[in-house]
Amino acid sequence: MSSPLRVAIVGAGPSGFYAAAQLLAVAEPEFSVDLFDRLPTPYGLVRAGVAPDHPKIKSVTKAFDKTARHERFRFFGHVELGTDVTREDLLERYHAVLYSVGTSTDRKLGVPGENLQGSHPATEFVAWYNGHPDHSGLEVDLQAKQAVVVGAGNVAIDVARMLALAPSELGVTDTADHALEVLNASGIEEITILARRGPLQAAFTNPELLEMGELERADLEIVGAELDPLSQKALEDADKTRRRNVEIIQEYAARPKAGKPLTVRFRFLAGPVELLGDEDGHVRAVRIEENEITARGDGSLAAGGTGRFEELPAQLVFRSIGYTGVAVPGVAFDEDRGLIRNDGGRVVGEDGAPLPGEYVAGWIKRGPSGVIGTNKKDAQDTVRKLLEDAAAGALNEPGGEDVEALLAERCEHLVSWEGWEAIDTAEREAGEPQGRPRVKLAEWDALREAAKAGRPVG
Ligand code: NAP
Repeated sequence: MSSPLRVAIVGAGPSGFYAAAQLLAVAEPEFSVDLFDRLPTPYGLVRAGVAPDHPKIKSVTKAFDKTARHERFRFFGHVELGTDVTREDLLERYHAVLYSVGTSTDRKLGVPGENLQGSHPATEFVAWYNGHPDHSGLEVDLQAKQAVVVGAGNVAIDVARMLALAPSELGVTDTADHALEVLNASGIEEITILARRGPLQAAFTNPELLEMGELERADLEIVGAELDPLSQKALEDADKTRRRNVEIIQEYAARPKAGKPLTVRFRFLAGPVELLGDEDGHVRAVRIEENEITARGDGSLAAGGTGRFEELPAQLVFRSIGYTGVAVPGVAFDEDRGLIRNDGGRVVGEDGAPLPGEYVAGWIKRGPSGVIGTNKKDAQDTVRKLLEDAAAGALNEPGGEDVEALLAERCEHLVSWEGWEAIDTAEREAGEPQGRPRVKLAEWDALREAAKAGRPVG
């Protein structure tokens, strides 16, 4: 096989960048990496998911930038797989294609009223306040007084915290301007995080939960802090994070209120059964059922309904029960799991046999779990498989032509790494006088325009 071996990575989020770095570090055989993204901007959820008040987490992009400077690396932004280029186009040109496209949509609650006005998937709200150009037009009515966030994971915490932050706290972040304006004028007084199971089963991580105790504008209220007998029994075998979560939640439950203008309530052991609307089709309440913890056959603890119902008034609802993947045209997909069908990172056909030269990494491989760093090991596992296949001569056998001619023909707005750097510079320069890290360009046209100041591809 000719060297370097050409790899296309689709999706410039953490797992794509980690896989790129690992491939570029291999001495023999040498690889070249072309990283594609449908957005003109790189970094995936580090840019469009990590909360704006968590700038330290975003500093991981420095390592990604180092990878981007490698001489055998190219970035092709604003190129969508399935529309601008197809899987077949890539397989004609690369020895391997690695999909790291993430899980870009929300899981559905599956309860009546889910789509009433004022009920939003958390994924969209997060994308909106982070300036994702697909979501800049989202209308979020923050004149509501009561909001319910369904789910007990870190995204639910991010959403609740963003709703509770004071204008002075938000004003130093890179929250998209359109969202800042709406959040600063918010009339929200009460935010309920609805957890269908108890404190021991919550999916929060400790630092995120601790941050909730330091909100300038919000008191905390805990409903259901005490553990049920089954959870109490499971406590000593639980991992450190979960045990500490229980301690933190119980500390919060014992804390007196300080008379702050907002309340963030954690309500455990209650699940939504219906969203109720007013005559205009706008959500007015969440009908919940109180749950109790029950043991499944395998010993794990589940939520079981008690038959006791209640209406929680809410004019705004965020469904934050996890992300799921969207099928990429032509690429093997496991509909049940919402993932690209794969065996440890090798994409497989319906018969379970590997499809030569196709790989997958990150959330679209294993599901939406873990923190950013989890994707490093995940990408490593996939790259190891790719290297085994390279050694066995089992990669894809492409023709010789470079992808650039095809992109020039198909992608009017192709964005190179220099194009992204031009966007980055424009955003940082706009942020500086305001004491903010950047003012995000959140519209497609503005991003395209700013990218033009960078050198063209090639
Ligand atoms: P997650 O951690 O999987 O949490 C999803 C939550 O939704 C769980 O509490 C789950 O409860 C609940 N849920 C699922 N189906 C439900 C239903 N039908 N009704 C009611 N509740 C339901 O997902 P996530 O919050 O979207 O986060 C995704 C990943 O990103 C996680 O690994 C998270 O840690 C990570 N993340 C990290 C940070 C950070 O480090 N700062 C920030 C954001 C996200 P059950 O457990 O009962 O199923």
